[in-house]
Amino acid sequence: MSAVSRSAGLAAAVGRAQAVQPSVPLAGVAGVAVGGILIEGLRKVYGRGDTAVEALKSVNMLVHPGEVVGLVGPSGSGKSTLLKCLGAIIEPTAGRMQLGSEWIYDDGWLVRDLRALRRDRIGFVFQAPYLIPFLNVTDNVALLPMLAGMANTRARDRALELLTALDVAHRAAARPSQLSGGEQQRVSIARALANRPPVILADEPTAPLDSERALAVVRILHRMAREAQTAIIVVTHDEKIIPTFKRIYHIRDGQTHEEAGQGVPVE
Ligand code: ADP
Ligand code: MG
Repeated sequence: MSAVSRSAGLAAAVGRAQAVQPSVPLAGVAGVAVGGILIEGLRKVYGRGDTAVEALKSVNMLVHPGEVVGLVGPSGSGKSTLLKCLGAIIEPTAGRMQLGSEWIYDDGWLVRDLRALRRDRIGFVFQAPYLIPFLNVTDNVALLPMLAGMANTRARDRALELLTALDVAHRAAARPSQLSGGEQQRVSIARALANRPPVILADEPTAPLDSERALAVVRILHRMAREAQTAIIVVTHDEKIIPTFKRIYHIRDGQTHEEAGQGVPVE
């Protein structure tokens, strides 16, 4: 990428992504994006030599602020690898990624503090909930806002609000081990939303949920996207929620193909 387009992309990163005008589109123009997610020519090879696996060959993706896109593909097609690269959990091999108005990767990381990037800018929802066993449900959700400097009472209030929206507030004082799998997953979704990150990456978030709860989760994600101008990628093969996406990326053999979705309202 040229020095000119890089400096334009970084210059756009003034302030926090949440402050971005919702009406400004990413438009797919390199260097002028001011929110959302832009991925170009992303490649990831695991290992080397004879045992190397090319999990991502060339992934191109665009998610506007305020948009929820589905990422669908068969097992082993590279979905989790893509989310882990974008979430700065693993290092890509080549390509470019822009996240919430800043280029974060261009054939190498452009952000020095990847831990802060993950903490402040990305909400993760994984298949397994990974809750902290010795904290109660409320504090599991309130922890990240507290670490980001929010007053404890306010962080707990926000946690309760999210737990209520996810229909799990009655378990607020319980420990994670006392919850069912579905309840744990809803708590982990509340936690991902707690910091109002500009980007949410969800890997099969509704897999353990019944259909009513799965739709409740998707409703929350769509509302979050709209109200906080969050850019959200949902990896799924859940037939119940796929019709709710307006745009879907199919991934096959490490390559993405965009397709229109049905965009059925879930409100
Ligand atoms: P999906 O999430 O779509 O099922 P993954 O991203 O997990 O796919 O995997 C894509 C490909 O990369 C698969 O062939 C998988 O075996 C391989 N892969 C994933 N993680 C690793 C790893 N840590 N080391 C080597 N190969 C891996
Ligand atoms: Mg996976």
